[in-house]
Amino acid sequence: MIDDRPLPDTKAEHDATFWEAAAEDRLLVQECGSCSHRQLYPGPVCRACHAEAPGWIEAEGTGEVHSYTVIRRATEHRAFEPVIPYVVASVELPEGPRMLTNVVGCDVEDVEVGMSVVVEFEPLGAGLAIPVFRPR
Ligand SMILES: [Zn+2]
Repeated sequence: MIDDRPLPDTKAEHDATFWEAAAEDRLLVQECGSCSHRQLYPGPVCRACHAEAPGWIEAEGTGEVHSYTVIRRATEHRAFEPVIPYVVASVELPEGPRMLTNVVGCDVEDVEVGMSVVVEFEPLGAGLAIPVFRPR
C-alpha cells in the first residue's frame, strides 16, 4: 500500500460503480445495453454508439499484457518514489477492453508483452482498492 498516492476520483456516477466493486475485490467492465460494446475506463456513454448509461458485467479477472513501460524515475508526485521501479501496463481482458494498470508481484525485468496475468486488489485506504495485476 502506498500511503500518499493520490486517490481516484470516485464521485462521478459512472465511476462510483466501478470503485465500489473494486473495494469488494470485483473487476467490472461496462457493457452497452444497445450495441454490446464493452469499455474501460468507465464513461457516462457508450464510446461506440453513444447510448447513455452503459451497464456492467463482472470480468473474470484475468488478462494479458498488451504493452508496458517501466517507470524508473519519480515525477513531481513523490508518493510513487518508494515503489520505483514499477510497471505501468496496458492489460487486455478476455472480455475485450484493455485497461491501464500496474503489474506487481514480480521483478520489472520479468514483465513481457503477452504475459498472462491475474487481477488483485490493492487497498488504498479510505475504503478504496485499486485493481492491479500479477503474473498467473
Ligand atoms: Zn453502444
